[in-house]
Amino acid sequence: MNIVFMGPPGAGKGTQADRIVKRFGIPHISTGDAFRQAMQEGTPLGLKAKEYVSQGLLVPDEITNGIVRERLAQPDCAGGFLLDGFPRTLAQAETLDDILASLNRGIDHVVYLKVDRDLLFIRLTGRRICKSCGEIYHTKFRPPRTEGVCDKCGGELMQRADDSEEKVGTRLDEYFNKTEPVLKYYDAKGLLREVDGERDIDEVTAQIGAVLKG
Ligand code: ADP
Ligand code: ADP
Ligand code: ZN
Repeated sequence: MNIVFMGPPGAGKGTQADRIVKRFGIPHISTGDAFRQAMQEGTPLGLKAKEYVSQGLLVPDEITNGIVRERLAQPDCAGGFLLDGFPRTLAQAETLDDILASLNRGIDHVVYLKVDRDLLFIRLTGRRICKSCGEIYHTKFRPPRTEGVCDKCGGELMQRADDSEEKVGTRLDEYFNKTEPVLKYYDAKGLLREVDGERDIDEVTAQIGAVLKG
């Protein structure tokens, strides 16, 4: 199964992707995670990405496309993959079509998690991430049993620098200007499956499960 997750920052893509990749046994490819890892390691890619990520801006297509091209060619993607946070521009969507065509593959479903802007703001500013295992929490909607501590591994929870109120506004603007047009692109191809991302986490997972079966 070749799946693309789309939706604004804070829609729940990462939360749902963690669950769906476990169910299908396919790799989770998150360009955001790839950039954060490169930034932490201080690689040349990370240094370049940081200029944009830290401002809440999209990283240029030339940089982003290369990462996905390399990753999709890896053998573990042969049985399917879940792309989370890519494509985010029309040019990225066209590049993805080229990459997949060259691998003789195609997209099965584009799952669009729909959430209103006001709620996205609350989702993003309350998001907390485990430093050790990456588990995603929320101060209100998915609090850990002990404040600041991961339920799964006991690791310390942190807030992403770009989840500050100031950066969230820029990121949402980037989404509505550059990424939303990509939804139309996939709708025209008959691939878009809209899911109500405002429901409870379990209900959203169930809706996605139904889409992927159908
Ligand atoms: P994205 O990857 O789309 O940016 P995340 O999965 O990181 O989104 O979720 C953003 C924040 O919203 C996190 O704090 C997460 O715990 C919370 N969240 C995700 N899905 C839901 C949901 N269905 N209801 C309430 N909160 C949610
Ligand atoms: P979220 O879903 O909460 O916006 P991500 O982790 O997917 O967060 O992305 C974090 C940041 O990484 C983005 O704000 C952007 O700077 C960069 N990024 C991730 N994916 C892409 C992409 N496909 N194109 C350009 N920049 C990206
Ligand atoms: Zn953890």
